[in-house]
Amino acid sequence: MKCPACRDLNNRVIDSRLGKDGDVIRRRRECEKCSRRFTTYERVEDYLPSVVKKDGRREGFDRMKVLAGLKKACEKRPISVEAIEQTADAIERNLLEGGEKEVPSSAVGEAIMVALHDLDSVAYVRFASVYRSFQDIDEFVDELEDLLKERRATGRKARRKAAQPRKKRAPRAES
Ligand SMILES: [Zn+2]
Repeated sequence: MKCPACRDLNNRVIDSRLGKDGDVIRRRRECEKCSRRFTTYERVEDYLPSVVKKDGRREGFDRMKVLAGLKKACEKRPISVEAIEQTADAIERNLLEGGEKEVPSSAVGEAIMVALHDLDSVAYVRFASVYRSFQDIDEFVDELEDLLKERRATGRKARRKAAQPRKKRAPRAES
């Protein structure tokens, strides 16, 4: 970051704020040479930690993946899209403010779990029961998709055979 007045590259950050949309960090800087103060706008994705997957591969933090996980967990629950997006924002913000260069993917999963716990108990149980055995968001989203399909199918079958006793019940989520 060059000083707009003297072009010196050395400056210190005096204030950092996440923009309203959550995708820009506004930084107030002060030039160490001439003391001129200036503002920079930096893309959040440049500052988000890399996510270290179970197999050791790194990938960039993917907000869409977090959103997909949240949406799956909240499917058919009385939770607004806005609330889901705010939850994803909060998770992203925490990661950003944590200032780590790398985080394990399990930390992202845990963060989703904690957020869902506050948001909706059924969504939380859905996520937690599936996620705990996977520890990986990609696998989780796939698995949850299958699980929900299966439940819908079971539900239809159960309605058709309403008169017959059910052989097996899916574990019920406590609320
Ligand atoms: Zn300067």
